[in-house]
Amino acid sequence: MKCVGCKGEAEIKILQPFCKECFKKHYLRRVKRLIQKFNMIEKKDKIVVAVSGGKDSLACAQALYSLGFEISVLHIDVGIKECWSPKAKEVTEKFCKEKNIPFYFASFEEFFDIDAKKFFEASRRPICATCGMLKRALFNKFARENNFNKIATGHCADDVAKYFFKSIVASTEESFFWLSKLKPITPSTHKKIVTRIRPILEMLEVENLAFSKFNNINVAGCVMCSYFQRKDKITEILRKIDEKFPDFKIKVVKMLEKINFESEKEIQECEICGEPTKNKICTICKIKKRIEK
Ligand code: AMP
Ligand code: ZN
Repeated sequence: MKCVGCKGEAEIKILQPFCKECFKKHYLRRVKRLIQKFNMIEKKDKIVVAVSGGKDSLACAQALYSLGFEISVLHIDVGIKECWSPKAKEVTEKFCKEKNIPFYFASFEEFFDIDAKKFFEASRRPICATCGMLKRALFNKFARENNFNKIATGHCADDVAKYFFKSIVASTEESFFWLSKLKPITPSTHKKIVTRIRPILEMLEVENLAFSKFNNINVAGCVMCSYFQRKDKITEILRKIDEKFPDFKIKVVKMLEKINFESEKEIQECEICGEPTKNKICTICKIKKRIEK
């Protein structure tokens, strides 16, 4: 198998065969193209990359770093042992140290002044939904308070494709609302909301894994997420589609990029904590009140 770039011996074939060096270049070229297409980053931007220590967000941080952007990294201890381990922090911190990237660390418990176990129980929602909600709130507040104007996450084509099918199955207003957010850039709609960018949205998980490996990055995996993935029907179906159409998930991302959704409910400030919310009181404060009762 010959590399489509240099015609040397290929080491990997995901969409096309590549040698290690040509794969890295090809990966960066695609990320750069997406950044430019959506005007994701400007010179004066202060970017914080949310890094879990997994292959996707580390690949995202590596790509931005390799493309010459100035970044900082934020890592969160989510307070549940199934989804976070000291190893995740360790690999993220090591990655930053090697490249002289400023590293920030926060934990849900300290940042929101909550008992994570009690909070997750009182939320009456699946762990992953509550964890996602807290993460988004923390990223936003942290970025704003530390003068970052862009938050970058490691969302990729696999996340979008999975969510796309799940939204159709759920068919709720909320699921369609979230679908409208899965674009390369979510500009700020309120002075307290920081713009979100997703530089590797058109990349596949397997490509992120290869990019991390070829850059000699140690990654940590999430026990809970890979567990859910294995049992997940939608993922199984997507795997079958992959066999016939390896770029199917990328096509889902590109299709959603072109769709314009109706504008969302107006953002207000929570009457208790002042954070942006679509309701009078934000979800975090609502759950906190429930615990106090
Ligand atoms: P997930 O909600 O686990 O699919 O993660 C979505 C994105 O959030 C990842 O690509 C990361 O950019 C970010 N993220 C997830 N977990 C963490 C964490 N523990 N610390 C920092 N960022 C995270
Ligand atoms: Zn609140």
